[in-house]
Amino acid sequence: MRAALTALALLLAAPALAVTETVGSLDGVTIIDRLDAADLPAGQTQRFWFRAGASPVGQPWLVPVVVVKGAMPGPRLLLTAGIHGDELNGIAVLHRLAATLDPAKLAGTLVMVPGLNPPGLMQSARQFTTDWSRSAANLNREMPGREGGSTVADFAGRLWQRLLRPNADSAVDLHTQSRGTAYMMYVFASTARTRRMAELVAPDIIKMDKGERGTVENSLTDDGVPAITLELGRPEVFDDAMIARAEAGLLNLMRELKMLPGRVLPPPASLFVANSIMAARATRPGWARLLLPLGAAVKKDQPLAEVRDGFGRLIETVASPADGRIAMIATDPRTDAGGTLARIVWWSPDPACANGC
Ligand SMILES: [Zn+2]
Repeated sequence: MRAALTALALLLAAPALAVTETVGSLDGVTIIDRLDAADLPAGQTQRFWFRAGASPVGQPWLVPVVVVKGAMPGPRLLLTAGIHGDELNGIAVLHRLAATLDPAKLAGTLVMVPGLNPPGLMQSARQFTTDWSRSAANLNREMPGREGGSTVADFAGRLWQRLLRPNADSAVDLHTQSRGTAYMMYVFASTARTRRMAELVAPDIIKMDKGERGTVENSLTDDGVPAITLELGRPEVFDDAMIARAEAGLLNLMRELKMLPGRVLPPPASLFVANSIMAARATRPGWARLLLPLGAAVKKDQPLAEVRDGFGRLIETVASPADGRIAMIATDPRTDAGGTLARIVWWSPDPACANGC
C-alpha cells in the first residue's frame, strides 16, 4: 500500500509528460518519436517524419505527418491513408488538404498521415511487408499494437500510442478496394455519430458495420474517438474525380465540426445506406465478366456475371444473392472457385441490424 502511495505521489509530482519528442532531421524535416499537437504553435502548417521503429536492415521506418494547426482553438481531426499499401487515392486527398488549407482560417487541428504502411506502399501490397514472407500481417488488424512486441505489433503500437490516439477527437481512415477489385465511394460506420460523419462526407454508399478487431476505425471508435473508414474506388491509382469528391466531403465534415466557416451541405439524395452485405461468388474457376456496372440496383436471382472456361465457353452464370445495390466488383476477370465477383448491399428493417448485421 505504501509503495503504491509513493508511486502515486511520484506520478503526481512529475512534470506533465507530453510532448513532441524530436530526434533529428532529414532534409530540413524534423524527425519525431512522439507527437502531441498541443505542443505546436497555432496558425501554422508543419511537416514531420514520424519514426515508427526500425526495419529488418536497421533503418528507421519513417511515416510522413502533416499538422495544420489552426489559429483558433477547436477539435482535433485525424486523417490517415495508405495503411494498405496498394490503396493510394487517400494519400492524394491528404496531400491536397495539406497544400490548400490555410491555418489562419482554421479552428482546431488537422493531423494527417499520408502513408501509414511504408513497406506495403513500396511493394504495392495490402500487407505490412517487412520481409519476403507471403504471410505478412494486415496492419489494419493490429491496432492498438504493442511496443516491444512482434515487428508489426511494435510498429502498430508506436503509431497508436505516440501518434494516432493522442491527437484525435474524431478520425477518418482513407482506403480503396484491394488489387483486382473496385468500390464506389463508400463509407463504413458503426454508430449513430459515425453515420452522421459518413453522411457529411457524401459517399455513394454508407455501410453500417460492426467492423473488425484491430482496425484504425473500430479501435478509435471503441476508445471514444468517433471514426469512419472511407473507401475511394480502385487501388494503385490517383483517380482525380474520386480524390476531389473526398476532399469536398472532408471539408464539409470540417464545417460541421466548426473547424471551417461556411454552410454544412446536407447528404446527397442519391446516398444509399445499407446495413447488410452478401457476396456473389463463382463456384468454378475461369474468366468472369460482369453483366452490370458498379452501383447498379439488382434483384435477387438476377444474372450478375458469366464465367467462361479457357476456350471461352460459358460454364456458369452467377446471380445476385439479394435485392440491393452492387457496392463492389471484381475488376480482374480471373476468378477462382469461390472467388467474389461482386458484393451486394441492402437495408434490413430489423431493428437489431440498425448499426450493421
Ligand atoms: Zn484498405
